[in-house]
Amino acid sequence: MPVLGTRFADELPEMGVSWRAAEPPAPELLVLNEPLAVELGLDPGWLRSADGVRFLSGVNLPDGAKPVAQGYAGHQFGGYSPRLGDGRALLLGEIGARDLHLKGSGRTPFARGGDGLAAVGPMMREYLVSESMHALGIPTTRSLAVIGTGKTIVRENLAPGAILVRIAASHLRVGSFQFARASGDVALLRRLAEHAAARHYPGAGPLELLRGVIEAQAELVGRWMLTGFVHGVMNTDNMTISGETIDYGPCAFLDVFDPATVFSSIDEGGRYAYGNQPAIAQWNLARLAESLLPLLDDDQDKAIEKATAELARFRPRYVAVTLDGFRAKLGLGPVGDAVVTALTEDLLALLKAEETDYTSFFRKLAAGEEPEAFSAWAKRWRALEPDTAAMNDVNPVYIPRNHLVEEALADLSALPALLEAVTDPFTERPGRERFAAPAPSGFGVYRTFCGT
Ligand code: AMP
Ligand code: MG
Repeated sequence: MPVLGTRFADELPEMGVSWRAAEPPAPELLVLNEPLAVELGLDPGWLRSADGVRFLSGVNLPDGAKPVAQGYAGHQFGGYSPRLGDGRALLLGEIGARDLHLKGSGRTPFARGGDGLAAVGPMMREYLVSESMHALGIPTTRSLAVIGTGKTIVRENLAPGAILVRIAASHLRVGSFQFARASGDVALLRRLAEHAAARHYPGAGPLELLRGVIEAQAELVGRWMLTGFVHGVMNTDNMTISGETIDYGPCAFLDVFDPATVFSSIDEGGRYAYGNQPAIAQWNLARLAESLLPLLDDDQDKAIEKATAELARFRPRYVAVTLDGFRAKLGLGPVGDAVVTALTEDLLALLKAEETDYTSFFRKLAAGEEPEAFSAWAKRWRALEPDTAAMNDVNPVYIPRNHLVEEALADLSALPALLEAVTDPFTERPGRERFAAPAPSGFGVYRTFCGT
């Protein structure tokens, strides 16, 4: 039986409710991430056993475990909710320095109107997309397993229930700090800041913690933009302190390049459109800064000055990350920043105007197969003597393309092949041509859904 740490439960009892997972009627392991299990020091053979599956379901825990439904607040689409929290999720404890967490494990006191459950499709979707993100080198929570619960749940139609077993550096969010700040208990806020710093920014005081999160998020969102990832629901409760991507609900990858792209069916105003992501990240970080104000200085005017100076670091850091990223995507070595910036801006304008598939463009460019409309641009680019072999190390061939994800979720027997492709995304392999190809023209507008 693995050991489960109780650090969060012990250090921050006010930040959650001690709780237990619901007993699944007929738990069945649908997918297990064996390399991740080994990385965590867990025995995949045991995890596949009946006892192991009950462990992964949260109902067979080691003595002394203290599972907790975490509390957090959050701005959802700009509107503040003081009490969100794990309505259908549970932190089982820590394995080493990382959280072992369930999603879909039953109602908790934070559930409000929800049923506390999750369906197989969306949990498999999170498994697939988060593991793809990891393979793409983008910081993310990981997926250890999906368990079918044997329970039928009510959604638009009836659906088979599931639990996602998630691993994260922690589940601390901007919303965790909003929750602690709103409690009015400055000592709790300080304990939370110390806990977060110890886990993610060792030695950092409150100001360095804020600086660390700002830098980590500027890097993360920069990586999203370079990869064409649209998170879809960048509420402050879905933004981590660690800088890992979290909560794969309505997320999706760009097909054709267009900054206005929105996939989420509920994002009617386009608040979380692809091109808005850096500005939204900065807005969310301002909410973190506000929450930390009592810790930044006894004089609140000075605290605001300090926080404002930190927030001003976001944009330059983000610009540097994307500049370096495009330099690599275009195989350019020591070419001046201004030249790379101009070349990138012109390329993005062309990609949009030509409605070009974003991901495959860079592989085609490296192979000398760019479309006709790009030839003048490509001539400028080639004059800079790009390293086209190096481009293939950073431009993926295989991403979880929307039409492929839908196909695999409609028929789970198609999932392993897609998972195999996207978890080794940079090496082109024979027999997988369809995983590299853009969506067929009949695929139409893609819509995604939250929660579920
Ligand atoms: P999410 O969209 O997954 O970030 O969830 C937002 C909030 O709604 C969180 O507090 C969740 O725990 C809660 N929530 C989402 N779905 C459910 C559900 N089926 N039952 C209970 N709470 C839920
Ligand atoms: Mg969430």
